[in-house]
Amino acid sequence: MARVIRDEEVSLEPLRGKTVAVLGYGSQGRAQALNLRDSGVDVVVGVRPGGPSWARAQRDGMEVATIPEAVERADVVMMLLPDMVQPEVWRSQVEPRLGEGMTVDFAHGFTVHYGLIEPPEYVDVVMVAPKGPGQLVREEYLRGRGVPALVAVWRDYTGNAWDTVLALAKGIGATRAGVIKTTFREETETDLIGEQTVLVGGLMELITKGFETLVELGYQPEVAYFEVLNEAKLIMDLIWRYGVTGMLERVSVTARYGGLTVGPRVVDDHVKENMRRAAERVRSGEFAREWLEEYRAGMPRLEKLMEERRSHLIERVGAELRRIIFHEEEQ
Ligand code: NAD
Ligand code: MG
Repeated sequence: MARVIRDEEVSLEPLRGKTVAVLGYGSQGRAQALNLRDSGVDVVVGVRPGGPSWARAQRDGMEVATIPEAVERADVVMMLLPDMVQPEVWRSQVEPRLGEGMTVDFAHGFTVHYGLIEPPEYVDVVMVAPKGPGQLVREEYLRGRGVPALVAVWRDYTGNAWDTVLALAKGIGATRAGVIKTTFREETETDLIGEQTVLVGGLMELITKGFETLVELGYQPEVAYFEVLNEAKLIMDLIWRYGVTGMLERVSVTARYGGLTVGPRVVDDHVKENMRRAAERVRSGEFAREWLEEYRAGMPRLEKLMEERRSHLIERVGAELRRIIFHEEEQ
């Protein structure tokens, strides 16, 4: 079994007397900057002057600078900008200011693994990838807990890269929940394969196709919505808390028998074959190339696909029902 590194095994000492520049103050940037500061680390936030992130960081009482200024003052640079934005900012504002023996940290391996960023050989290149959204990284820290993270070293120029990356993981609170060592390749590929086939793509499609099936058979859309979307969350909570068999033990015996016998016939070996094909496109770099091209073209396909989803019946029915379920006022 992979070893889970715990809080008490890790020291913040490697960051003592060092300045950490957090570039970007969005989901991960804000959470990680605040947590590091509250852990006693010297943090400067690097953002665009006059932008909303600048104002937000100032309101939070952070020390704020432009990206070039922040890099010049830093020993550790955390690249917490959107992945597709990183290459340009890296080339124009970060790389020219990196000194020998500095550390560059990423929260996802995408840009380095696919070669969109090629760090010079005189810096340490590391990753702390929290396995949860930024908001939770902050909230869990404030509760005295943490969100688990994967850590990796892509280049160990100084010989101290592992101590540094573990200290960063401790500073953001991740070691409180446990940290596992990985590689940039494993983190990037599993993250993309997971979100495409199971988390974002798989769940969305399973729920939507289930909804369409019920509606096409003549059942009320509202009944279909409660059945396949609303209740999916309740079943997922059971799986999350108690595991798959723990969930099975907590549903009715009819649901248990029906699920066990019919589930594998619906999500069958064809689906697994499709998952393998999706994984292959991630592993070969084909998906990354396609996405980069789409991004550079202004994301027309993404916008079109979003528009199709917005006008789907499940969205119209859902907006109505959620107003009632969550007691929201009409907009
Ligand atoms: P985000 O979109 O929430 O934040 C982006 C920040 O970058 C903002 O402060 C924004 O103002 C700034 N920015 C955007 N364009 C810019 C530009 N052209 N020049 C300068 N600044 C610019 O980003 P995020 O979701 O926190 O992602 C940051 C990194 O964390 C990514 O590598 C992502 O894969 C990784 N990550 C994110 C999450 C998450 O919860 N969102 C989870 C794990 C890993
Ligand atoms: Mg992901």
